[in-house]
Amino acid sequence: MNRNTRNLWLTITFAFLMSFFILLPQTTTAASTQIMLDNQPIEGAGDVIITNQTTMVPIRVISEKLGYNVKWKKSDQQVTISNPSATIKLTVGQSNADSTRGNVVLEQSPFMKSNTTYVPLRFVGTEMGLKVKWDNTSKTVHLEKVTAGPDTNNGVTPDPNSTTIEGISYSDNRLMISSSDKVNPVDSVLTNPNRIVIDLPKTSFGAGFLQGTELKQGEVGTIPVTGSADVKQIRYSIFSSQPSQVRVVIDLNQSKSYKLYQQNDLTFVDLNTTATTKPVGSGGKKVVIIDPGHGDTDSGGIGATGVLEKNVVLNVGNKVAALLKKESQIDLIMTRTDDTFIPLDSRVKIAEDANADVFLSIHGNAAPNKDASGTETFYADTKRSKLLSDIIQKHVLAATGFKDRNSKQANYLVIRKTTMPAALLEIGFLTNKTEESIMVQDDFQNKVAQAIVAGLKEYLNIK
Ligand SMILES: [Zn+2]
Repeated sequence: MNRNTRNLWLTITFAFLMSFFILLPQTTTAASTQIMLDNQPIEGAGDVIITNQTTMVPIRVISEKLGYNVKWKKSDQQVTISNPSATIKLTVGQSNADSTRGNVVLEQSPFMKSNTTYVPLRFVGTEMGLKVKWDNTSKTVHLEKVTAGPDTNNGVTPDPNSTTIEGISYSDNRLMISSSDKVNPVDSVLTNPNRIVIDLPKTSFGAGFLQGTELKQGEVGTIPVTGSADVKQIRYSIFSSQPSQVRVVIDLNQSKSYKLYQQNDLTFVDLNTTATTKPVGSGGKKVVIIDPGHGDTDSGGIGATGVLEKNVVLNVGNKVAALLKKESQIDLIMTRTDDTFIPLDSRVKIAEDANADVFLSIHGNAAPNKDASGTETFYADTKRSKLLSDIIQKHVLAATGFKDRNSKQANYLVIRKTTMPAALLEIGFLTNKTEESIMVQDDFQNKVAQAIVAGLKEYLNIK
């Protein structure tokens, strides 16, 4: 072998070896990689894959955990991710992506693994207006919401010192407004048409609450109210922006007396004839929080034929509310009664502010495996919540007739951060075509709602 031949061989061998490094990107399934959003860990964000030093996450993390609107076009293998201020388009296997600032080249193109589409987290986060930082020591991705500028907050610049309204719901003839801090409501009664007006000086809507809505000053969001003799609907709006002030209006069918009272950072307007200004749960009543998961741009799981989890669980939640209204020993609070999004921490705060006795979050399941099926209930803390979870699972399982996936432990934020007995119910799998077709049925939802109420009553020892 002469020197030239040897050099040629070395070159070929070297090129051959190098091609392995190029063709096989260094891929690690990074179980230890954490994602933090505003310093809070994102639960269930597992399944992170690091490829070419790029953190890749399942699109479900983008829709469920970050709350952006995600559309998947199977025929084109294309994902569209949007929020009120940005839209991006990514395609499986393509390193070019469409963004609001034009066509960009990705560090790593989206790919499919176990029927799940993975997208680059840094790119998506940055485009959606988040600050993205990687801490190599702790293997943590830090996402931070950038303070909204005038353009990203629908033209209304909130007073940075103002208290934010995080949730508005109406159940059991009672309006509940939850806020980040104490508010000083000013209430008034107007006629022609009859209505109760609640002004909340120095308040603005929280970013989570307004996400995806187009609410500008003067525009109005509506919470439909069904089955009430007194109340037609609830409206909310940004009444003025200088200084920022939220107004909530209860549209009445006839004039009606009410009691306004506050408990921690919750404000209640109670239209029950027996209403008092005592805190919720007084008179030995048990305070139950029903938390229909997701809402608004956070659709939750997407069913086999496109049914959205947020709608199914809201229907079931409102059916539970209608039943609990008849229970004289239960004081019910809903985290949401319409298609709005309540940040997870706010759901916890509502339960804590209300000194709740029980917290139940209602969900529908989704899995890459289309055959996955069954009912399951989760608790975070054995001592505090296992019994509640076991009882809910027993009753709901009997109602669904689905496969028993048991009552088991999981660290979902809403059941981990609450301090009262708390459970998270997954009624069935929307990604399973059979279960999806059953879960949308009114009769089935009524049966599940009855089972939830029976479970809550058994747990609370109410006859
Ligand atoms: Zn869910």
